[in-house]
Amino acid sequence: MTARPLEIKMFPCLFDNYGFLIHDAEANLTAAIDTPEVRPIQDALARQEWQLTHIINTHHHFDHAGGNLELKRKTDCTIIGPSMDQQRIPGIDVAIDHRQEFKFGNHEVVCYHTPGHTTGHVVYHFVNQQVAFVGDTLFAMGCGRLFEGTAEQMWSSLQLIMEWPDETLLYCAHEYTQLNAEFALTVEPKNLELIQRKAEVDSMRSNNRPTVPTKLGIEKKTNPFLRPNSEEIKINLNMTHASTTEIFAEIRKRKDNF
Ligand code: ZN
Ligand code: FE
Repeated sequence: MTARPLEIKMFPCLFDNYGFLIHDAEANLTAAIDTPEVRPIQDALARQEWQLTHIINTHHHFDHAGGNLELKRKTDCTIIGPSMDQQRIPGIDVAIDHRQEFKFGNHEVVCYHTPGHTTGHVVYHFVNQQVAFVGDTLFAMGCGRLFEGTAEQMWSSLQLIMEWPDETLLYCAHEYTQLNAEFALTVEPKNLELIQRKAEVDSMRSNNRPTVPTKLGIEKKTNPFLRPNSEEIKINLNMTHASTTEIFAEIRKRKDNF
């Protein structure tokens, strides 16, 4: 028996965050992926007439776990989060580790530890749905800032994500796409797919449409942080003899100063 598809609702929170609710109708389970802001999460729950049963956290930052305790108090939900960050993410009931599998209703989930943005950051791959929630590890045409981890760690983390099927839908936690595209063109200005995607993104944003989720396949072709092997990038950065990690680190550094 194949499970009914997971229902996913996305809504804006705070300044440029996205909140997500996922719902398994058969098991009658509803999870918030991170808790950027309580009110929009409650409003989305009310619109769908769903009861919050779980919170699934990616990392400890306030715009991802700031609503945990209030929502837990109001709904008595179970909080799932990375074991490494049990001290920093409030209210964790179920701690999970790298490559640990669990079930959300009928849906198989694999958790991956993706240090870089923070040391404890994890992402969640809903394998059969070909959907993943990647928090602040990967953005459309971008990646998270290195607040706690190293470039080497972040590049390893992104490589884990790159092993998933190209069709995988990636739900990232911020609408940063337009600025990311602008930056991407500074390191790879002749990438035709990137040029085309930038035009699409600009038009979507001018119509106030979200650019999330994105697909892994298109990220591999246009996201400079997944492309330290690109000949054009190597030549532009004057790094034709550098290692992939060194090139990745240089791209990240340039983005920080962009
Ligand atoms: Zn963050
Ligand atoms: Fe964030």
